[in-house]
Amino acid sequence: MSPSERPLDRRSPLVLDTHDLGRRAGAMKEIVTDVPAPDGMGSDVIGVPPASPIALELRLESVVEGVLVSGTATVTVAGECGRCLEPIEQELVIDVQELYLYPGMEPDDTDASRMEGEALDLEPLIRDEVVLELPFMPLCQEDCAGLCPTCGANLNADPEHTHGDVIDPRWGDLAGWQSAQDN
Ligand SMILES: [Zn+2]
Ligand SMILES: [Zn+2]
Repeated sequence: MSPSERPLDRRSPLVLDTHDLGRRAGAMKEIVTDVPAPDGMGSDVIGVPPASPIALELRLESVVEGVLVSGTATVTVAGECGRCLEPIEQELVIDVQELYLYPGMEPDDTDASRMEGEALDLEPLIRDEVVLELPFMPLCQEDCAGLCPTCGANLNADPEHTHGDVIDPRWGDLAGWQSAQDN
């Protein structure tokens, strides 16, 4: 095989080998496994941590034009809340439904996924779906109260928090007096 025929990185855990599936239409294979996530799935604020597990539950089915892949890929998405900066971690289930055309199949759709030899690469598919699903502004909760613009306190933890009045200097004096009494 020349490299040009096999440009896929076969060591990538998201490249599946369909050799044992065969090309007889109707042949089927189930894949249930965890694979490590590649780098760069997501944005600076939220994404799939590299090497975190992607749980694949897939069915590969041989059809006339290629291999139909269906099922789910479950990833963990981690990042920080865009308002309060607290860490966020959530599970994202991606529905996978994709036909990978055999090499040499003429596609009507030039964007169609294609097999390379007997291998197919799930990475572009999963990456696109993850990016689509990721919120532009991730929030720890829908109504996150964010941070106090004055002191940076987390307003979710302290909803009554206010700087309505500048602290009266007399209270400061009283506090000093109190601690003097305590001593
Ligand atoms: Zn938040
Ligand atoms: Zn404050």
